[in-house]
Amino acid sequence: MIYIYLILVFIFGLLIGSFLNVVIFRLETEEKIVNDRSKCLHCKHILSWKDLFPVLSYIFLKGRCRYCQKKISFQYPLVELITASFFVLIFSHFFLEAEKYFIENIIFYLFIISVLIIVAVFDLRHYIIPDKVIYPAIIVAIFFDWLFLNSVFIDHLLAAIVSFGFFLMIIILTKGQGMGGGDAKLAFLMGLLLGWPLVILAILLAFILGSIIGVALIFMKKKKAKSMIPFGPFLVLGTVLSFFYGEEIVRWYFEFFL
Ligand SMILES: [Zn+2]
Repeated sequence: MIYIYLILVFIFGLLIGSFLNVVIFRLETEEKIVNDRSKCLHCKHILSWKDLFPVLSYIFLKGRCRYCQKKISFQYPLVELITASFFVLIFSHFFLEAEKYFIENIIFYLFIISVLIIVAVFDLRHYIIPDKVIYPAIIVAIFFDWLFLNSVFIDHLLAAIVSFGFFLMIIILTKGQGMGGGDAKLAFLMGLLLGWPLVILAILLAFILGSIIGVALIFMKKKKAKSMIPFGPFLVLGTVLSFFYGEEIVRWYFEFFL
């Protein structure tokens, strides 16, 4: 029975992923999110319903526009697949745990993962974390924590403030060379989502993954040592890993080293 749910959740995730692509694009062009019909970016031809199936349209059209044959970015099916996979992961996580507030948790975390995906992709492309996305997410997260976390609400709020302060300190010490205000705001959101001590683990993982990828890119000569690598995607990765596997990682760490 759960398989039917998972398939439905996966399809729902593909559709939302397709919507996230639109949001990412319209944040770039400052268009309204809910605007007119989608068009080909190259030839401006209005897309038909046949072109709008997540992933499938991309495969059948062999990654090219039906009208002008221009290549379509691989980002589109990739974001759709990643969104769908996370939707399934979140659904099964709460389904198996059978927690209280099942529906509330699912809705909240599907919203949050959507925000995190937008943040990661947008930061990767433009080296900025859009306020238009991060502020609403912070407000929703505060309300969610306040309504459903009860006793640990203050804990999470404190984790958020300290994480924000930590990044603010880095920004001041490095005179804004490495991190930006967006990273600090994202760290605030991470504190609200994870609380102690998982937020520390998430930030630590982000720094470790960021340095590994950074060094790898320099070796592959894709980036010069001084050029920018956005940190947002690593913070998102750290958050997701910490949320799903944090307790296991901490347990593994202590068994290994102590
Ligand atoms: Zn076209």
